[in-house]
Amino acid sequence: MTHAHHEVVNPATGEVIETVPATSAAEVDAAVARAAKAQEGWAAAAPADRARLLRRFAGVVDEHIEELARLEVREAGHTIGNARWEAGNVRDLLDFAAGGVERLNGRQIPVAGGLDITILEPLGVIGVIAPWNFPMPIAAWGTAPALAAGNAVLLKPAETTPLTALRLAELALEAGLPEHLFQVLPGAGDVTGNALVEHPGVAKIVFTGSTRVGKSIMATSAPLVKRVTLELGGKSPNIVFADSDLGAAAAATPMSFLDNSGQDCCARTRILVQRTVYDRFLDLLAPAIESVIVGDPADEKTQMGPLISQIQLDRVRSYVPDDLPGIRGSAPDGPGFWFAPTVLTDIAPDAPAACEEVFGPVAAVLPFDDEADAIRLANATDYGLSGSIWTRDIGRALRVSRAVAAGNLSVNSHSSVRYSTPFGGYKQSGLGRELGPDALTAFTETKNVFISTEA
Ligand code: NAD
Repeated sequence: MTHAHHEVVNPATGEVIETVPATSAAEVDAAVARAAKAQEGWAAAAPADRARLLRRFAGVVDEHIEELARLEVREAGHTIGNARWEAGNVRDLLDFAAGGVERLNGRQIPVAGGLDITILEPLGVIGVIAPWNFPMPIAAWGTAPALAAGNAVLLKPAETTPLTALRLAELALEAGLPEHLFQVLPGAGDVTGNALVEHPGVAKIVFTGSTRVGKSIMATSAPLVKRVTLELGGKSPNIVFADSDLGAAAAATPMSFLDNSGQDCCARTRILVQRTVYDRFLDLLAPAIESVIVGDPADEKTQMGPLISQIQLDRVRSYVPDDLPGIRGSAPDGPGFWFAPTVLTDIAPDAPAACEEVFGPVAAVLPFDDEADAIRLANATDYGLSGSIWTRDIGRALRVSRAVAAGNLSVNSHSSVRYSTPFGGYKQSGLGRELGPDALTAFTETKNVFISTEA
């Protein structure tokens, strides 16, 4: 029998670095059965023992940060600095989740005639389907709290980036996690991923990826009333008011949409600038964009690497005709999937590059007149993942934070993700929340038990 394979390509060179076998639907079926068995023992284990094993897993990841980071540079083209942070984030997520195991408390609710308690029970086997843009952190966002809450996890990495996920599964075993509790199943979305979504033995799907595929996963999950958490796309605003520290706002803008070559669901790709300071802001922004260092991701000085693939490069190019006016940085020629940092000026608000998720190093600048106009423009999208507000007026910062329909906002900064704070989207950017104080609860079912004292 021939077996499907996926080629893993180094995006900085275009070379094939590894071939990984794909998991068939029958193999998914067998993996679910093994996971279900492992989960029974795991859920029955003492919470302190589960916590200890997860901490040990965090410790083993910590010992392999550099190796995992180098692997991510090779398979995903991430800059080495980012890749080290990403591997460290996996360690931190495991540590944080381990701390929750013994704090997964139910409640005791006052009722007449007895005692009422709630019990948070694990769901069973969780399917985590991850994208290629942040292979390690996003895999861990689902996996760490799911395991901590007493579940087993089947992780399907993206076709292009399975290597760090496969290595993490080896490290889990090295740390002493029970066999089959955490399995990585590389393969195609419509085969391996779909088999997880359709499988009655998988209790919940945590999907991170495009809004298009997220909608189809929600539809496929409906007949089974399968639980889903969806982390989808974004077209996030970066709102710059005239009263802000314009120099600081301009200096922070490049990496707010160029980090990870713009392949970031939280990228601030709509730069909304108050009309009175529009020209001055662009004068400050142009040198900041032009000086971004784009090149070999393994070089410590590099700020932006290549795009993930030729397909992604073609897609980004399709949004940026040569005659569109804008500010452009530089990028290497030759092999690899390179695209220069680009800020499109004088663009219509309904142009595709100004309203669709490009998922590349491209942002559009649009002027606004006043606070109400800024809020209107910021919300003129089906997405609602993140956004930034630059102002020195604290009342305005709070008003606009309340008015923008997005899950993750930052004032005078471009921060979105911390493992200790909740993360997720409004509108078509997603469903449910990950991370934060309630991360484990998303992997439990609440059972209410009433015990009569009258009998
Ligand atoms: P994608 O939707 O193409 O694929 C994501 C994952 O789903 C991959 O593992 C893929 O194999 C799998 N998949 C594809 N079709 C499937 C199917 N029919 N059934 C089951 N699984 C299937 O997304 P991508 O191109 O890998 O990632 C980019 C997208 O992810 C962007 O839209 C980005 O905004 C989004 N994203 C969102 C967040 C967030 O937290 N909101 C974070 C990162 C990326």
